[in-house]
Amino acid sequence: MIHPHTRLMTHYLFQDEVDILMAHLWMQDVNGWGARRLDAALYDLAAAPIPCAEEAPMGSASRKAARLIRADADGVPAWALIASPDSAVRVNSRAVPAGLCVLADRDEIRTGDGIQYFFSTESLATVVSFPGAERPVYCGRCREPIEAGAPAVCCPGCGIWYNQSAEFPCWTYSNKCAFCGHPTALDTGFSWTPED
Ligand SMILES: [Zn+2]
Ligand SMILES: [Zn+2]
Repeated sequence: MIHPHTRLMTHYLFQDEVDILMAHLWMQDVNGWGARRLDAALYDLAAAPIPCAEEAPMGSASRKAARLIRADADGVPAWALIASPDSAVRVNSRAVPAGLCVLADRDEIRTGDGIQYFFSTESLATVVSFPGAERPVYCGRCREPIEAGAPAVCCPGCGIWYNQSAEFPCWTYSNKCAFCGHPTALDTGFSWTPED
């Protein structure tokens, strides 16, 4: 019998990968647009200009009260915006029906006091220490098992893992992911910014 969790594993969706494939929130400061990694579970947009994670209950009767809440579904990372009933928060220039909106890539969020954000699901290819898994995970290039703790890259496009060390530079061996064609350069930055 195949345990449901085992089936999920074959699709390369481990909790550790979900943590690596991280959404971003674009916001402006004096230096222009910058992307903040959404690595917490909760952000308060009323704490603008820089939202911060906090546990306090949502302030009542604030026209700008809105929160971003991480709501993963079946191991796939997802984010929702929750707005207070009298909030003037808009997503893509529209009011937020029932105070709830599941965010999609490049959604524009504008708070009641006019501060603009963009949500992005794009994540950057980064070399991390391979977290390990219950079953062997094979490198997308050389097909050898990747050892826990080995330097590795999780492709932001498809979630396939590759070795990436001086000895085994499998991720950067080609300029594209062998499975989804995502560029393998490690220093290209985001392919989309709010200026596009
Ligand atoms: Zn390899
Ligand atoms: Zn890929």
